[in-house]
Amino acid sequence: MTRFRRGFNGHTGDLNSNRVGAMKRRGLLLDRDGVINVDRGYVGTREQFHFMSDVFPFLATAQDRGYRLAILTNQAGVARGYYTAQDFEALTEWMRQELSRNGIAIDLVLACYEHPEGKVPSLRRESFWRKPNPGMVLDSVQRLNLDPARSVFIGDQIRDMQAAQSAGIGACLLMNDHITEPLEGVTRVADFSEALCAMPNPFA
Ligand SMILES: [Mg+2]
Repeated sequence: MTRFRRGFNGHTGDLNSNRVGAMKRRGLLLDRDGVINVDRGYVGTREQFHFMSDVFPFLATAQDRGYRLAILTNQAGVARGYYTAQDFEALTEWMRQELSRNGIAIDLVLACYEHPEGKVPSLRRESFWRKPNPGMVLDSVQRLNLDPARSVFIGDQIRDMQAAQSAGIGACLLMNDHITEPLEGVTRVADFSEALCAMPNPFA
C-alpha cells in the first residue's frame, strides 16, 4: 500500500484510506435534552420544549462548515409511559420545522425508547442504542456516511461522552458546568461559542 506524507502539515496518511475519507462527511452529533432544548426532565410536549438560547446560530454555522447534523436522544419517557412514541414523533416533527424555518436541516434523529425499568412491557429492556452504549452513534455514522474521527459529539451528560468515545468520535464536547470530575478525552465547553471553537473547522 502506498504511503505518503503531506508536505504542508507533516501528517502522514494512507493514500487509499484518504480517498475513502474524502467521500465521508463530518458529523455533528447532538444530544437533545440539555443541548437542543432546556432539560426539564422527560420533555414530551411542545409546551415543555424550549430551545436553548443560541442553538440556532450554532447549528447554522456548523451546517455551513459542512457538518451533517444528527440528534441522538435517550427517550426512556416512552418506556416509562410518560408519553408515547407518537407524541415523541409529533414533537420531533415540530422541532424539525422550527429548525428548518431558521435554515437548519437535521439529517437524522434517532431515539431510544427502551429502559430496563420501563412500565411498557415491550420496551422494558436494555438496549445497545441506549447511551452510554454506542448503538445510536454507530448507526448514525453508518447511515450518514460519516468519518467518526473527524466528527463531533456534543452532550450534557457523561453517558453521552461514553457513547461517543466508544464509537470513536474524534471530538467529545461536554456542556455541563455541574460535572466537575476529570474525564479523559473530553473537552469541556461553557456554551455554543466555545463549542464552535473546539470543533475542527475545515475552512480555517
Ligand atoms: Mg442531555
